Amino acid sequence: MSKEREKTWRSASNAFSHEENRRARLDAFFERFSELVRPVDLKTVSTMGVGDFGMVATVPDLEKLRELVLFCRTIELAWLPLGGASNCLFPDGILGAVLVRLGEPFEEISLEDGLVVCGAGASAAKLLNFSLANDLGGLEILAGLPGTVGGALAGNAGAKDAGLADLAAEIEAVGTDGLPRTLRRGEFKSGYRFLGLPPELEGSVVTRCRLELPRARREETSSKVAELLAARRRSQPMGARSLGCVFKNPPGRSAGELIDLCGLKGREVGGARISPVHANFIVNLGGASSKDVLELAGLARESVLKTHGVVLSLEIKALDRRGRLLFW
Ligand SMILES: Cc1cc2nc3c(=O)[nH]c(=O)nc-3n(C[C@H](O)[C@H](O)[C@H](O)COP(=O)(O)OP(=O)(O)OC[C@H]3O[C@@H](n4cnc5c(N)ncnc54)[C@H](O)[C@@H]3O)c2cc1C
Repeated sequence: MSKEREKTWRSASNAFSHEENRRARLDAFFERFSELVRPVDLKTVSTMGVGDFGMVATVPDLEKLRELVLFCRTIELAWLPLGGASNCLFPDGILGAVLVRLGEPFEEISLEDGLVVCGAGASAAKLLNFSLANDLGGLEILAGLPGTVGGALAGNAGAKDAGLADLAAEIEAVGTDGLPRTLRRGEFKSGYRFLGLPPELEGSVVTRCRLELPRARREETSSKVAELLAARRRSQPMGARSLGCVFKNPPGRSAGELIDLCGLKGREVGGARISPVHANFIVNLGGASSKDVLELAGLARESVLKTHGVVLSLEIKALDRRGRLLFW
């Protein structure tokens, strides 16, 4: 273990001195997986630039991933998968759960028996380019989408009502019991920004998928990609630090429009602002905290409920300091 890395960890670990149990578990994890773990400033990881201190473990293969998951289970240490961090709102203060990332070997993409086999660590952009190069269609929904294939599958990310998981014939995942499983279509559910896994795979790491894509001429798909990118440029705060849409669209309505009708475009709390370009985006003006973002999101949610009688639910994955998801 490098001296620098150990020093960073030791000083952060001291912050848990009032919680001996948690500190001991994190210390044990750090000792065991020191070659995979990096203490990081989560601001530098998140596309929104929010968060403080956390531990990221990057696994090189399935075996290490299973070993890590089982170790965390044994010592009762919280962990969660992380892709490009383009949809995760990290908490203020130290994150007491390990973030598990898939290393380079999980980025491979190939064609097998007419299906695209894609590692969950590949970027959404790489997958889109692969499909274009092979005259396959359907993945224009990934145009301009930051993040990884694993993150896109987990949230069924895409454009409008369509998402990546809708195109998956198979999904491979490692459960919290460390066992790898392959799910065929029908064994998982996908809906608008939603992937439903069987209960034994709740909280699992998706490692790979097989996609069934229609044949389509590259020029046709490229022009759909160009249209979608132009629409993004027109309607979204390009270049601003964000996590994309904060809320899911309620059935038949646009969350952004509802927030806009409440007159909240441009509203600020601390370093966070509801984008004047797209009211469903909260942007970091510099130095925004998770508390700022959640306060602003809470204000938007309350106003929409009061004014329109519509309940908005979060699309972003907001984490507390124990790595638990906030459900609104
Ligand atoms: C500018 C901008 C524009 C965006 N536009 C869109 C859009 O048009 N459509 C859209 O749907 N989203 C959009 N997003 C949101 C985000 O990019 C997507 O949700 C993306 O798919 C998240 O991928 P990620 O790898 O960054 O996931 P992360 O943010 O790292 O993680 C998101 C969730 O997925 C889980 N996860 C990550 N990897 C895995 C894995 N391997 N196995 C299991 N779970 C995993 C995490 O635990 C977390 O709960 C946008 C975001 C930004 C910043």
